[in-house]
Amino acid sequence: MSAENLLPYGLGRPDLVEFQDGYFVCKDVCGDLKKFSTLLHENGFELRLESAYRPFEKQLSIWNRKARGELALLDEFGKPMERPTDEEELMFAILTWSALPGASRHHLGTDIDVVDANACPEGYEVQLTPDECTGMFAKFHAFLDARFGADEAFGFNRVFEPGRGKIKPEGWHIAHLPTSRKLLEGFSLETLRGIYEKCDIACKDAILANLPQLAEDYIYPYFI
Ligand SMILES: [Zn+2]
Repeated sequence: MSAENLLPYGLGRPDLVEFQDGYFVCKDVCGDLKKFSTLLHENGFELRLESAYRPFEKQLSIWNRKARGELALLDEFGKPMERPTDEEELMFAILTWSALPGASRHHLGTDIDVVDANACPEGYEVQLTPDECTGMFAKFHAFLDARFGADEAFGFNRVFEPGRGKIKPEGWHIAHLPTSRKLLEGFSLETLRGIYEKCDIACKDAILANLPQLAEDYIYPYFI
């Protein structure tokens, strides 16, 4: 298998560019992201990335630390919850806020989590929550709504929208869709299964037993 075939899973070596300090994106989206950032700047907003490219190992580490109780597990309302002892329940609890390693759109380098730095209070630590979208970043999101609605955002749009799949809506998560579509053409659930069989992932049995349904609920709805 060529290294290129593993890019949709966050493995291999994508062609990345550091767009902001410590935040890398796929080289192919850089031009449009600069244009989008300039458009926002001209309208009084300052695009700041809070997350960008994330390799498989990083997502695996988040997943396993949540499973082991080293990272907080949050319920659907974003409140800390007790860790289920049943492996399948634990898996679904993690899935509420974390993508399966190998199936996170952040592996693509085309997806970013964004805020308006101009609206961010000094010293405030961004949480990426729905409350922020309707609160301090409301104007920013209203502007994005209009641009995305008119398809005038240089190929960018939201992915985790209400009514689409089982992942909670994430207004802050945007993607360069023409580029992500191309990358996802190479995605195969059987390849992902093979990756899980060989790696040290928490809840492995539950993931493998449920993989087709997990894909229907948490992966394929976001291949847009
Ligand atoms: Zn995101």
